[in-house]
Amino acid sequence: MRVIYTGGLNMNLVEIRDVTKYFPVQRGFIEQIISRKQEFVRAVDGVSFDIRKGEILGLAGESGSGKTTMGRLCVRLIRPTQGEILFDGINIAEVEGTEMRNLRRRIQFTFQDPSSSLNPRLSIGDAIADALRFQNMGSPEERKEIVESVLERVGLAPADTFYHRKPHQLSGGQRQRVVFGRAIVLSPEFIVTDEPVAMVDVSIKAQLLELMLDLKKELNLTYLFISHDLATARHVCDRIAIMYLGKIIEIGDDDQVYEDPLHPYTDGLISAIPVPNPKIQKTGKVPRGEIPSPIDPPSGCRFHPRCPKAFDKCSTEEPTLKDMGNGRCVACHLY
Ligand code: SF4
Repeated sequence: MRVIYTGGLNMNLVEIRDVTKYFPVQRGFIEQIISRKQEFVRAVDGVSFDIRKGEILGLAGESGSGKTTMGRLCVRLIRPTQGEILFDGINIAEVEGTEMRNLRRRIQFTFQDPSSSLNPRLSIGDAIADALRFQNMGSPEERKEIVESVLERVGLAPADTFYHRKPHQLSGGQRQRVVFGRAIVLSPEFIVTDEPVAMVDVSIKAQLLELMLDLKKELNLTYLFISHDLATARHVCDRIAIMYLGKIIEIGDDDQVYEDPLHPYTDGLISAIPVPNPKIQKTGKVPRGEIPSPIDPPSGCRFHPRCPKAFDKCSTEEPTLKDMGNGRCVACHLY
């Protein structure tokens, strides 16, 4: 049975319905001739979940779990192979032309590495104004005024001292502020942010997370917060979804999942979070081995080759996401 958690009331801004994204494996000429079978990377494989208006949903998992692909699907940077992605009831996989351009105002994406997502030849003022130009919004003077207010809002003040700087003239934290500025300049409702603080050190990380939360409150934003770092995700998220090899394997309110993880993989990830107190003994086990290839995922439960609690059924039968009550869902034969 496919379970979609809606939280009771239909307050969802984004609804993901049975979405898959397969990428064809590119092979060399000779290999193509020898092996006629086309293989696919199953980056996202039958995923369903909702994001409520005004919440921060964390999407966590190891590298290779499919979380970045899922984020890109949510803002139509790529199209799904199958399934529906509804934003405010609109299936964004099928939207084109003017309707898509209008949607672009409402949904934004921030990339993990601000250095590679900012054009090194453009001043940061022009980089932010670009989105306004693309949407034919305002005169050049009005756009400059809007960009200056955005720069100040993201902590790059006074704005006129930053407007004409190039990305390489900023620190890593300042570049990340520019990325947030570019994301909010069109007053969106929904932002997918991919590892927004992975490239900065701890002191800057706290300031940027604070900025993210302030922007959420002021602009009434909804976030999908993608992170491999569960400690950071706990700090900012209302709910958390755990991905493993293209599937959601557990989802629930932050406190529930962190205090009482049900899935052995979630348990392993949470047990690996460092605790700044040597007196606290951790009892969980970090998942052994590495995440398998998404080209040929294991049969049954995809986690079974690494699971300390695996039993016979696990290698033959795939567990579905089961509703455990109170919005908690888990995909594991133990439940
Ligand atoms: Fe482990 Fe089996 Fe549960 Fe998969 S279904 S997580 S292998 S116990």
